[in-house]
Amino acid sequence: MRYISTRGQAAPRDFEAVLLAGLAEDGGLFVPETWPTLTPAEWRALRGLPYADLAARILSLFGAGGLPLEAMCRDAYAGFGHAAVVPLVQLDHRTFALELFHGPTLAFKDMALQLLGRMFDHVLEKRGERVTIVGATSGDTGSAAIEACRDRSAVDIVILHPENRTSEVQRRQMTTVLAPNVKNIAVQGDFDACQDLVKAMFNDAPFRAEMKLSAVNSINWARIAAQIPYYVAAALALGAPDREVAVSVPTGNFGNVLAAWAARRMGLPISHFVIGSNRNDILARFLASNDMSAKPVEPSLSPSMDIQVSSNFERLLFELLGRDAAATAEAMTRFRAEGRMPVPDGAWKQATALFRGFTLDDAGTLAEIRHLWTSSGYLADPHTAVGTAAARALAPADPAVPVIVAATAHPAKFPDAVERATGFRPPLPARLADLYEREERFGVLPDDLGAIEAAVRAHARRNAA
Ligand SMILES: *Cc1c(COP(=O)(O)O)cnc(C)c1O
Repeated sequence: MRYISTRGQAAPRDFEAVLLAGLAEDGGLFVPETWPTLTPAEWRALRGLPYADLAARILSLFGAGGLPLEAMCRDAYAGFGHAAVVPLVQLDHRTFALELFHGPTLAFKDMALQLLGRMFDHVLEKRGERVTIVGATSGDTGSAAIEACRDRSAVDIVILHPENRTSEVQRRQMTTVLAPNVKNIAVQGDFDACQDLVKAMFNDAPFRAEMKLSAVNSINWARIAAQIPYYVAAALALGAPDREVAVSVPTGNFGNVLAAWAARRMGLPISHFVIGSNRNDILARFLASNDMSAKPVEPSLSPSMDIQVSSNFERLLFELLGRDAAATAEAMTRFRAEGRMPVPDGAWKQATALFRGFTLDDAGTLAEIRHLWTSSGYLADPHTAVGTAAARALAPADPAVPVIVAATAHPAKFPDAVERATGFRPPLPARLADLYEREERFGVLPDDLGAIEAAVRAHARRNAA
C-alpha cells in the first residue's frame, strides 16, 4: 500500500516513510492511495478478537505489515487499566459510551500514541537512526507523547509547558516520568510562547538537522490508522455488519471522527457521524451554512477541543472533492490567506448528508454531566459530555440504530468541572492514585531560544553518548 499527498506534489511513500515524515513536503497530508475494503463475511470473521489482535489485523490492511504488529499492539495495550482495552458502556436504550481513556494518561490520545512510540522506535532502530522529538503543550498532548516515548532507545523527547499554567494533574503526568530520555521544561511564558519556541527550533535549519528534530503531531497518518480499530470493535460488538450504527465524536482537530469515517469507507455500515463542538464551533458552522472560517480560540471546559482550525479536515476535503489534489491545495491556500475555506456546494452537500454538527456551551456541558450522573450513574468528563449531548440531539430517527459515543477522557482528568456539575471530585484510578506523592523532575527556563536549544542539545547528547 502506498500513500499520496492531499496536495499532489509529494512523491508517494510506504507506511514506514509516512510514519517518519508526518507532514508531506508539499504541505499536504498523506492518505492511502486506495482504501482497503472488507466484505460482510470478512467483517464477521473479526468478531470476538482480543482488541490488540483486532488492531493488528486492521493495521496490516494499511501497509504496516512490515512491523511486528501483533507483538507491538499487545505490548502497547497491555498497560491499559481495563481488560477490554476499549469497553462499551450502555447509557440509555440506544446510546453507548466507547471508553477510550483507560491508557496511561487517561485520554484517548494514548490509543494511537502508545502504538506510535513503539512504531517509531522500531523503524529508527532498523535504520540505525535517532530522533529528538520536541513539542509544546498546554497540558494534555504533552503527557501522552511522553508516555509514548519513555524508555524508547532511538528517541529523545523534550516537552515545553508554560510554567504555572497547566493544572497540577497535567503537570505531574509529565514531570513524574523520570525516564532518562524524557526532559520537561517549564518555560517562563504562556502556551503561545512555548509553541513559538518549538516553531523557531524547527525553522533553525542547522539545529533541526543536528538534532534530527521530529514531531508526533495529530496530522500523522499512523495516528489516524491506529484509531480505526476501536470503531470496528464497537460496531462489531453492536451487530455490524448486519446492523447499522451511528457515531458521535467530541471533536477538535478532526482526527478521531476521521478515523470513524475511514471505518465506513472500509465498508462498515456507519449511517452517519455526529460532531460535537464546544463554543469553538468552526465545524458546526461549516455543516450548518458552509461557513468554514477561523475565529480566535476561546477557552472552554473541554480544552482539548479549543481549536481554531481542524487540521485533519483536509483529508475529508480531499475525498469530498473527488480526490482532486489541485483543488484541495487551492482551497487550503486560500484558507490560509483569507481565513475562510471555499468549499464547492456539491462537496458541502455531500458532507451534510453524512455529518451533523452540534455545539454545546459550558453551562450545557455541566448540565449534561449532571444529567448523565443522575439518569444513569455515569460519570463523564466535559469532552465526553459534549459527545453524549450531541448524540441525543442528533441521533438517527430510527431508534434501532445504536449510537456509539467516543468517551475521550477519564472524568478524574477534569475534576474541577465534574465537581461543579455533581458536587464531588472523581478519584484517580488506583494505578495513578499516588500521582501527588511522586517525585517530579523539570527544568525552568526563560522564554529564550538560545537557552532552550542549549538544553535540548545537552539532553540529546547525553542520551546518544
Ligand atoms: C484530542 C482530544 C479531543 C479531540 O480529538 P480530535 O481528534 O482532535 O478531534 C477530544 N477529547 C479529548 C479528551 C482529547 O484529548
